[in-house]
Amino acid sequence: MIKKEKYSDRSKYKITREQAEYIMGENKKHLKLIEGNVYCGKCCDSVTIVNHIFYIDSFGDIILDGKCKKCGSHVVRCTETGENKEAYARAQEVINKQK
Ligand SMILES: [Zn+2]
Repeated sequence: MIKKEKYSDRSKYKITREQAEYIMGENKKHLKLIEGNVYCGKCCDSVTIVNHIFYIDSFGDIILDGKCKKCGSHVVRCTETGENKEAYARAQEVINKQK
C-alpha cells in the first residue's frame, strides 16, 4: 500500500521495489548502478545505499531513501524518471491506482 505523505510541497508516495522497477521500465537495469552510486555528505563520496525505501513524487521521480553503507548516515537519491514521458505515465498510473 502507498501512503500519501507531505514532503516539502510535493506529494510523496511510498512504493515497492517492484513498482519502482515497473516505472523505470527498460531502465530498471540501471537501478543497481543507482543504488551503488549515492552521494553521502558525511563520507564526501559516492556510496552504496542500504536499507532503503522507494518513493515516487508527483513529478514521477523515484526517490531512494536509506542509509550510507559506510557510515550509516541518512542518504537520499532522486532519479529523474519523471523526465522520461513513458516512465512518467507509468508513475501516474501507479499513483492513481493507490489513491
Ligand atoms: Zn557515509
